[in-house]
Amino acid sequence: MKFSSRRQVENLAKFQSEDFLTTSFYLNSDKSKMRKKEIVLSLKNLLRQSKSQVEQMDASKKKKDSLFKDLDRINRFCSQNLSSNNFSGLAIFSCSSQDFWQFYNLPSPPRSRIIFDKNPYVRPLSAILDKYHRIFALTLDRKEAKWYDIFMGEISLLDSHKEDVPSKVKEGGWEGYESKRIERHIATHLHDNLKKIAQITFKLFKRNHYDWIFLGCREKYCSDFEALLHPYLKSKIKGRLKTMPGDSQTTLLRESLELEKNLKNQEEDAIVLRLISELEKGGLAISGLKQTLRSLNQGAVQTFVVTRNFSQPGRMCPKCRFLFADEPKCPSCQRKTEKMLDIIDEAVEAAMDKNCEVKHIASPSKLNRYGKIGAFLRYKT
Ligand SMILES: [Zn+2]
Repeated sequence: MKFSSRRQVENLAKFQSEDFLTTSFYLNSDKSKMRKKEIVLSLKNLLRQSKSQVEQMDASKKKKDSLFKDLDRINRFCSQNLSSNNFSGLAIFSCSSQDFWQFYNLPSPPRSRIIFDKNPYVRPLSAILDKYHRIFALTLDRKEAKWYDIFMGEISLLDSHKEDVPSKVKEGGWEGYESKRIERHIATHLHDNLKKIAQITFKLFKRNHYDWIFLGCREKYCSDFEALLHPYLKSKIKGRLKTMPGDSQTTLLRESLELEKNLKNQEEDAIVLRLISELEKGGLAISGLKQTLRSLNQGAVQTFVVTRNFSQPGRMCPKCRFLFADEPKCPSCQRKTEKMLDIIDEAVEAAMDKNCEVKHIASPSKLNRYGKIGAFLRYKT
């Protein structure tokens, strides 16, 4: 299945088995960066290491057998599908004893790893989701316009429009009177066409929840066109493209992805700076693992901000599902807390579950100085 939505992560995070562990498998299968041989080799190593990890695990035979079955099935699946798979990454979640099996093709490469835990390890999926925006791209010149949907590295043409707008005055006429009339006629024609393009843009944009608009437009028509655009759409224009309607789809995609990456970096920097300024003036923000988990437990988090690949063990209350850095006992219900492999992963899941925004920040960033993790709050805690 193709990985494409937050809902998929949320559903996956809901799976939990009382008696068995779940295997989460991530493989970097980026054929543009690695040869097939290298991918197969890294897969083999990964499976071998994980197998010996299960052998040494302090768990019941039943539990271990279920994990061995997971690894076998993952191995079979990869040997059947890896050569035909053209995605940059693969994720599989399996709990054989519960007949639980899900796989996702990923648009960008994850770190190759296998994790055995009480529930699926979804953090890399959330990080991939955060990397992409739904982009509406429009290219236009005087005669032609094309609209595209770009999401997770893929592009599709939404619509195109062509109109025969004459480009220059062909005949002079009596004392230039005729040519002036024709010029006016062309200007009106051009204006009407831009207006039509603006209307189609609005209609297409409404169909989907787009985050950003990228616009490729000849300089001389730009201000006329934007003046005709709905103010809401104008506010969504986040980037300018050099690509024109006559250029290939591949060119447009390449330029758009580059732009998306730059904008994403700028966005991350801006989030971290905003968080720090809020922290320093004692506003609605928190930082550090302990404080952030506490605010998350209280339901006070609005936007959860975390450094990519930052992970740390922690503890969770089996009853309240509260998360802690190191509390042996839940302060709320006094139960003994359980050890979790990666408390950050649990926190990302909890944040998604509570409808918080989750922002993953590339390291190194200024967030490192604040414990690599933080949050914007709904209210002061
Ligand atoms: Zn509790």
